[in-house]
Amino acid sequence: MYKNILRHPGPTPIPKKVELAMGQDMFSHRSEEFVKLYRETTERVKPVFGTKQEILLLPSGGTAALEAAVVNAVSPGEEVVVVTVGAFGDYFVSICEKYGLKVHKLEKNWGEACTKEELADFLKPLSNIKAVFATYNETSTGILNPVDQLAEAVREHSEAIFIVDGVSALGGAPAEMDEWGIDILVTGSQKAMMLPPGLSFVAVSDKAWKQIEENAPTAYYLNLLSYRDWAEKGMTPNTPAVSLIVGLSAVCDLIEEEGGIAKTVERHELMKNMVRASMKALSIDLLTNDEFASPTITAIRTPKGLNLADYLGHLKKEYHLDFAGGLGHLQGEIFRFGHMGYCFPSDVLEAVSLMEAGLQDFSYSFESGAGVKAAQDVYLASLKKKSVVSN
Ligand SMILES: *Cc1c(COP(=O)(O)O)cnc(C)c1O
Repeated sequence: MYKNILRHPGPTPIPKKVELAMGQDMFSHRSEEFVKLYRETTERVKPVFGTKQEILLLPSGGTAALEAAVVNAVSPGEEVVVVTVGAFGDYFVSICEKYGLKVHKLEKNWGEACTKEELADFLKPLSNIKAVFATYNETSTGILNPVDQLAEAVREHSEAIFIVDGVSALGGAPAEMDEWGIDILVTGSQKAMMLPPGLSFVAVSDKAWKQIEENAPTAYYLNLLSYRDWAEKGMTPNTPAVSLIVGLSAVCDLIEEEGGIAKTVERHELMKNMVRASMKALSIDLLTNDEFASPTITAIRTPKGLNLADYLGHLKKEYHLDFAGGLGHLQGEIFRFGHMGYCFPSDVLEAVSLMEAGLQDFSYSFESGAGVKAAQDVYLASLKKKSVVSN
């Protein structure tokens, strides 16, 4: 018997309270009980998005929500801009191309973010752009794009709506959809939202609703207009992921228990700082610089002199510590330390400690305990800062 320490960027560990909530007896999605659950829960998720708009719940992975954004907001032949800084940005490009859109691709090196100036310069010579797409948290590289600033560039240099993939960000990174001017924001359940895979979330601004209405989408199952119609009745067009929505209600309990989403985001920031400090103390390079580093996932380069597959395999086999490898051309070069959702400073200390054990096994040269100490120092400093505030 052993405990698998899942430090992937999704699926992520499920809190016991959420698991137990999902284990309750099934009930009809056309019942009063469901309507109450749906209405209350979607209301409670709004702070996670930073929106007053309805949160639509689709029984799907995050990709279907991205596809829903594309197929509802734009039509074949129309021009769009996709900002891509990694594998998930490239997915957005693929979806747009499949739907016959003319895609202008703003591509950055993997490990870099896209800045407001870059997007502004890219948009200036273009016209007739119907939508600009960007990934908030690029899960393949651990980059958090400054989507608040990208939204400004979109507003200042186009008439387009701004569509953001918030999968792996929402629940761990700040989001102010309305204030920042994001028009469609989507996320999925199994990253920072502490749920199993199978539920996705879409929020749509007034401006984007208008564009969707004019666009008259041909989608059936992913038709956001029918989701909106049914949401007015506190229901979904087809059978929803009932159990996951029950689980979502428990997730809202947990976030509220922590003090609200701002506190939850603060914990993710802290874990980011702990992980980064510990890797620096172990002389292990990070893929990204601090400025745009993700609060939910850290991409870490292979410790010098080690074979990454051997090291990750050893951590899994010997210590049941489960990290995700790199995607695309970063495979074999980086691994990804997920610290999102149901993850705490104690989990970071555990993972760093076991990473060090593995480094010793491979005779990597370092001062034993240096990574743990660095992470612990960051943690302690954050506690001290809090106690000063509360005094
Ligand atoms: C995981 C992920 C997706 C895809 O979500 P699925 O649930 O696997 O379909 C899309 N975008 C980002 C940024 C992700 O991290």
